[in-house]
Amino acid sequence: MPPAARTTHRPSDPAEPPFVAPVREVAPGSPAALAGIAAGWELVRINGQWVPDVLAYRRELERGRAVLEARDPASGATAVVDVDWEDPGLEFEDVIFDGLRLCANKCEFCYVHQMPKGFRKSLYTMDDDYRTSFLYGSFVTLTNLTEEDVARILDEHLSPLYVSVHTADEQLRADMMKWWRLKVKDPAATSIRGMIERLEPIDLFTQVVAVPGRNDGAALDATLEYLASRPNVQAVAVVPVGLTDHRRNLPDVRTLTAAEAEDLIVRVEAFQRRMLREKGTRFAFLSDELYLVAGRPLPAAEAYEGFVMLENGVGMVRDFLEAPLPALPERLDAPRRVLLATGRLFGPVLERAVAPLRAVAGLELEVRPLTNKSFGAVTTVAGLLAGRDVLTQVAPGEADLLLLSPSMLKYGTETLLDDRTLDDLRRDLGTRVEVGGTNLAELFASVLGAGGATARPQFGFSTHAVKEASGQH
Ligand code: SF4
Repeated sequence: MPPAARTTHRPSDPAEPPFVAPVREVAPGSPAALAGIAAGWELVRINGQWVPDVLAYRRELERGRAVLEARDPASGATAVVDVDWEDPGLEFEDVIFDGLRLCANKCEFCYVHQMPKGFRKSLYTMDDDYRTSFLYGSFVTLTNLTEEDVARILDEHLSPLYVSVHTADEQLRADMMKWWRLKVKDPAATSIRGMIERLEPIDLFTQVVAVPGRNDGAALDATLEYLASRPNVQAVAVVPVGLTDHRRNLPDVRTLTAAEAEDLIVRVEAFQRRMLREKGTRFAFLSDELYLVAGRPLPAAEAYEGFVMLENGVGMVRDFLEAPLPALPERLDAPRRVLLATGRLFGPVLERAVAPLRAVAGLELEVRPLTNKSFGAVTTVAGLLAGRDVLTQVAPGEADLLLLSPSMLKYGTETLLDDRTLDDLRRDLGTRVEVGGTNLAELFASVLGAGGATARPQFGFSTHAVKEASGQH
């Protein structure tokens, strides 16, 4: 997932570039390093042009010969690098240099609007940028595209893109997403069918956030039919709307009941069977949360067809459970108490999954589903638990080892949603605190003290991930 956007904008002095690309790192011995460029410098132009994003930067390099102009904002020093089919050796602070595109909507179910106060600023960013969709798979609505954006997507073949469709009923979509007319640069961009059809050379992975009484039932059937009729739509994920207890002055939206989740499953599974016969793919995939809310068993791994929409919470639980398990010892060398912290939604699944460990003598194991006190009890996924939720529901010294769900950590770091780190938890609880593992085999190894989590989570809480953990955008 992308780091938080950091773009350096310049004042409107015509002599000044409108944006520059801050350099994070320079490869030793690279052409940029030999020219004296270092971390903290800025790339100003490549082949005489401003560079809006890393895609444009790469495109210029792919032409073969490229002349890069860079400067040091601290000293005012400048450098020019001339490369010919060579990597200049620059790593940038971010992938977007001209500012992240923000959304033009005010969706009735928007997660950003119902975030509690006090989290990091980037979590409140209403980003909707087709470039990060292409680079990182974040979902975008396409309502903020301009004619030039569409031309660029087609010209540069920015495929695949990930699109929040929600419904193929144009009127219903407008009603659910309530875009700001003044923020929509090209009214044609608000037609989802028009946009999907204009982008026909581009593969699209789509999602529907199912809101009870709005785009479910017959409206969902019609949406699936439409999406399946388009040659460029590769798949659709159906995810339930997620809410917090911090909805103030917002439209009346509620979460799905178990019966409504069941209805969605029945509809979509019937559609999947037909698609499998007609197209050789299920095409539509349901988020794990729907099965858990409906109290239904999760589909087998093959039903996810390679887990194409894993990061949207589609198949994550099955994927977690699938890894071959290690042989278990009869007893531990020394007794240990292990606490597994997760969200309330996943708690019962985890409880069943770790049952074999209960036969290991000397191991005292507890699965503790935590109530989300930051967002409210209505939020049950592990990915939206904050450090404070752990600290208020785990007592100091009550376990020798506390294992957290990896989805609670920011991508590639040991930082939780409220900026507390694993070290903060270790200090406050006086307990070893680690990440449990990205699959059940790693979790078993962590519990037994045999290593375990070898990888940081693939998924963290960038703005996108918060929305994805909540099934929104
Ligand atoms: S859900 Fe996404 S697209 Fe809709 S208003 Fe919120 S940030 Fe914008």
